[in-house]
Amino acid sequence: AKTIIIIGAGQAAAQAIQTLRAKGSDERIILIGDEPYLPYDRPPLSKGLLAGDIELERLYFKKPAFYEDKAVDLHLRTRVEAIDRAAKTVTLSDGAPLAYDDLIIATGARVRKLSLPGSDLKGIHYLRSIDDVLGIRDEMTPGSRLAIVGAGYIGLEVAAVARKLGVEVTVLEALDRVMTRVVAAPVSHFYEGVHREAGVDLRLGIGISGFEGGAGDGGRVTSVRLADGSHLPCDLAIVGIGVVPNVELAEDAGLEVGNGIVVDDCARTSDPHIYAAGDCTNHPNALLGARIRLESVQNAVSQGKAAALAILGMAESYAEVPWFWSDQYDLKLQIAGLWEPTDELVLRGDPQSRKFSAVYVRDGAIAAINVVNNLKDFLPAKKLIGERRVVDRAKLSDPEISLKDL
Ligand code: FAD
Repeated sequence: AKTIIIIGAGQAAAQAIQTLRAKGSDERIILIGDEPYLPYDRPPLSKGLLAGDIELERLYFKKPAFYEDKAVDLHLRTRVEAIDRAAKTVTLSDGAPLAYDDLIIATGARVRKLSLPGSDLKGIHYLRSIDDVLGIRDEMTPGSRLAIVGAGYIGLEVAAVARKLGVEVTVLEALDRVMTRVVAAPVSHFYEGVHREAGVDLRLGIGISGFEGGAGDGGRVTSVRLADGSHLPCDLAIVGIGVVPNVELAEDAGLEVGNGIVVDDCARTSDPHIYAAGDCTNHPNALLGARIRLESVQNAVSQGKAAALAILGMAESYAEVPWFWSDQYDLKLQIAGLWEPTDELVLRGDPQSRKFSAVYVRDGAIAAINVVNNLKDFLPAKKLIGERRVVDRAKLSDPEISLKDL
């Protein structure tokens, strides 16, 4: 049988394995991941796991027995250092090269780090992995003062959990509103109000110039230095300023890379024996008419599946409306499509009721939607986005009229 090697034991890898075995493939599968854990679900990291509401084991997509039953050869705590495309081998951090017939690169993304004075002090955290959360949880005790750098959805999810745990929270955001990348201003303003009501000291339009602390405090951070010269005392800091795709392996191997490993609509790279899936890829989306790099569960799952099918000679073009979500306090935000600042914004319902949708209209059709606690709008909107059908504008702004009837 052939050998399939998968680099990176995350969401995309887990899906690729499930699809390969579900389709009855008998290839030898080798999964190599640098974390000590079986593939796990990341969204709960900044939600239920941080809050202490769910057990770590619940995060695993599959129990250890699954990998045994499905004859998956696991190499955890192991990094792939290089890919040799001519020899069709990968070099591991702990030994001899392994040969593949087909290779899936599912290396995901890593957090973008700050490189300011004091950024290496203890107590400054990032949030991408189980280990990150365990480190944060130990320090996020009731009454402690937490400084969050970045008001993206990770920073805001952490703020919500921290308030629930009785932590004093300050959020520092360089731009003038929260979640700028994913939502329009009215939705940002709604969320800003919610966080302030919950007791978060939210400071917008404020840059940071470094951290202070040091020897006397065991090398721990004691304050954030703000761009205006003032200091924000803190016991710990969490930085959430985005991620960078892990493309270096692919780049060094001479694969085409540009804001992600370049793949086609079936997760194939420029090498016929190498596929890539998930956060690390840049792929064409026919529905959007553009190449995109996405950081979402939906994309990792769909591409993991696409890579497996392509390897099995069952390639299926993958084009889906991007969607993701964020949980903050009692609010479930669901997002479908990608908005643009030039879109016309239509509100369905009153934000003050904590249940509404913000619809983004482009060329008369729905291009994207933000749904807040308004579950019934989500699936019909996602469908309409995919169809790009021009909708009746008057009906759209009437929250009493179901999106199904547009
Ligand atoms: P990952 O899950 O990141 O897996 C990649 C793995 O590869 C990692 O374990 C990495 O360490 C490993 N690796 C990298 N390089 C190597 C190497 N050279 N050798 C060996 N191993 C390597 N998405 C949503 O849709 N909704 C949400 O609410 C949401 N919330 C999130 C909250 C948090 C805190 C985080 C961190 C992410 C969240 N996401 C959310 C994003 C989602 O989790 C990711 O899009 C998804 O995990 C991507 O899957 P992946 O397989 O591409 O990468």
